[in-house]
Amino acid sequence: DKIKVALNGYGTIGKRVADAVMRQDDMTLVGIAKTKPDYEAYVASHKGYPIYAVDPAKAGPKFKAAGIEIAGSNLDMIKKADIVVDCAPEGIGEENKKIYEQLGKPAIFQGGEEHEVAGTSFNAAANYGEAIGKKFVRVVSCNTTGLCRLIYAIDKAFGVQKARVVLVRRGGDPNDAKRGPLNGIVPDPIQLPSHHGPDVQTVLPHINIETAAMKVPTTLMHMHFVNMSLKKRPSREEVLDVLRQWPRLWLIPSWYNIKFTGDAIEFGRELGRSRNDIMENAIWEESVTVDKEGEFNAFQAIHQESDVIPENIDCIRAMTGIEKDGMKSMAKTNKALGIGN
Ligand code: NAD
Repeated sequence: DKIKVALNGYGTIGKRVADAVMRQDDMTLVGIAKTKPDYEAYVASHKGYPIYAVDPAKAGPKFKAAGIEIAGSNLDMIKKADIVVDCAPEGIGEENKKIYEQLGKPAIFQGGEEHEVAGTSFNAAANYGEAIGKKFVRVVSCNTTGLCRLIYAIDKAFGVQKARVVLVRRGGDPNDAKRGPLNGIVPDPIQLPSHHGPDVQTVLPHINIETAAMKVPTTLMHMHFVNMSLKKRPSREEVLDVLRQWPRLWLIPSWYNIKFTGDAIEFGRELGRSRNDIMENAIWEESVTVDKEGEFNAFQAIHQESDVIPENIDCIRAMTGIEKDGMKSMAKTNKALGIGN
């Protein structure tokens, strides 16, 4: 039987997870829940997704006026599901947890929630097994997902003594009018280290990591400079060979002439990817170096809107136990979503 998935919260992340669920042969979408009608609800209704209202007493008349049919309340939707993917805004997931507990449904939270809300934080490559059979799991944020993928791959092969990361973060998503900065560079937070290092440790507790982050006026992607001192002394070629084993680590060859995040997103458009999503870590191959002291260095760009999508799909398989082998789940997800092509 296919796993019945409900999407509670249908914004930047939720709409992508819904589409990704639709592309899996072992899952079905029970529906999506929204707080009000808008262009995203319009498209969802055209895709034929059953739409449920978060607060039907309040939202019902608005949906009616917009001519969008609702199938019931989000509680009705959740009751029909085997698992809920909560993609509500930061902090709301924690409130929604009470609903999932009351209805006895397992749920996945996103990176905007604290680790403690779920008790288990997830990255498919790094700790798939920990999510098997769990009631609540958090898929870590876009930046933490990108870091876990890379650090896990390098740590497994060569041992990471210490990771040091500078993150240059997009000010807001393309459809976000309220965030910024509009002009300037914001150390965010000024207090060091930034929360990203401890967040990586919720998945990879043994990794020694220091992070600093800044926000800049761009919406397309984040950029990381990653430095890691390694326990072994691999050659650059050995490092590249390891990175090539992971489809979610995309090595950008220099001849592609991808010079900045704008080109990376344009590549997504050229590929005809849905919403130009680059779900892989975009690692500039030329930047991957191993210096005289045996330290790894690289630049990677992270598409904040989409890199967590395959991880949510794998997390559904792990929690429901329909696939106990993380590598198999990742391969299945990658194939269904066109990752690594
Ligand atoms: P978003 O604002 O784009 O979408 C959230 C949606 O949830 C909106 O449609 C909103 O109307 C709806 N909503 C509000 N209250 C709700 C409720 N009580 N129940 C159900 N739905 C409700 O937010 P987003 O960017 O998709 O972020 C969702 C989560 O994913 C957050 O935890 C965020 O930190 C995390 N995340 C975001 C990004 C990113 O870059 N956008 C990347 C990784 C993780």
